[in-house]
Amino acid sequence: MDILVVNAGSSSLKFQLYNMDKNEVIAKGICERVGVLGGDNAYLEFKSNKIEKEIEINKAMPTHKEAIELMLAMLKDEKVGVIKELTEIDAIGHRIVHGEEFFKESVLIDDEVIKKMEEFEQLAPLHMPPNILGVKSCMELIPGKPNVAVFDTAFHQTMPDYAFTYALPYEDYKDLKVRKYGFHGTSHKYVSEETIELLNNKPNSKIITCHLGNGSSITAIKDGKVIDTSMGLTPLEGLMMGTRCGSVDPAAVLYVMEKRNLNTKEMDNYMNKKSGIIGIYEKNSDFREVRNDYLAGDERATLTFNMITYKIKQYIGSYAASLGGLDAIVFTGGIGENSAIAREKICENLEFLGVNIDSKINIETEENRTKKPVLISTVDSKVKVFKINTNEELAIAKDTYNIVKFGKLA
Ligand code: ADP
Repeated sequence: MDILVVNAGSSSLKFQLYNMDKNEVIAKGICERVGVLGGDNAYLEFKSNKIEKEIEINKAMPTHKEAIELMLAMLKDEKVGVIKELTEIDAIGHRIVHGEEFFKESVLIDDEVIKKMEEFEQLAPLHMPPNILGVKSCMELIPGKPNVAVFDTAFHQTMPDYAFTYALPYEDYKDLKVRKYGFHGTSHKYVSEETIELLNNKPNSKIITCHLGNGSSITAIKDGKVIDTSMGLTPLEGLMMGTRCGSVDPAAVLYVMEKRNLNTKEMDNYMNKKSGIIGIYEKNSDFREVRNDYLAGDERATLTFNMITYKIKQYIGSYAASLGGLDAIVFTGGIGENSAIAREKICENLEFLGVNIDSKINIETEENRTKKPVLISTVDSKVKVFKINTNEELAIAKDTYNIVKFGKLA
């Protein structure tokens, strides 16, 4: 079975075509600058198992529909493509950012599902419209094939009410659905399922998964179910990120708006695009640069590095308390998978919780980077600490496969 995984983001379209029988990606690509300033400068990077090197194509893509048309043309292309007819694509899996409280797991998409997703547009105004257009375009351009929605929020739907309710007036939850939802659910689910296997399916396993990338979130998982997560109504809450501030005193937001004369849209941009690493370190939002400057003794990089790692450590302590114990910590995402020094600093002084990192294993080698999983804790560490490379696309392909083939998730 060939499954196409589509991730229609705010200004990009990422895709992968999986051959599920061979368990391999046969083609993948990314369209960038879709719809940006009319989409005139958009381009596609494409790689398939028919070609040695990635190719780049410049083409106007005013909306995600043109991006999807180009993607399908490439997949079918005589020279670089991997299929002859679109009918060879058996199903399409879509990454959908928000499933509100309604969608608690991945679903087969029909008109009713689309209508429901359209109702949630306001909860993620930058992402839901392209997500939905991606679905509609695939339905139109690859007719008669099943489409499956995989929601970033779904895995977190098991959180208890006292964890997801904000202490705002209760009407805000009832009328406006203002509550904590959590994101990166597909990644947290994927790495936690691997971890549960690594713990030999220990019942009531207590796991903390740290997805640390440009966007970062951390989740507490008991017996395979989320009990708390750091992102909230939107992906802004929680940890300090590449360009996002994470949690701050809400009154500080109001104060800055007043003093800097910013309206809500401007403040939204301020907190999402100008804060976090870029706000403190100022040079850029790339953790690698922060790490290098930190090692060179740069003051601002040191502050940034310490802020990031301290906050994650705090969440681990807090979630260990929420879980009532801890069996494993998992690091994933660009930073979590690659930065040994970040992992070391985060776990420093957590010995009282039973966390002991093995500094001979927690190193940055090519083998450690690509291998999954890597156990980076010492043999006698009470809490096992893993680095596991995430694969959200594969998780989406697997959900799609199971729903299409067996009518339900595994
Ligand atoms: P996204 O959230 O966009 O999917 P990624 O998960 O790819 O992002 O993570 C990107 C982050 O990972 C960037 O801050 C980048 O600097 C960081 N990163 C990537 N490789 C390394 C590395 N070898 N060491 C430290 N940080 C790294």
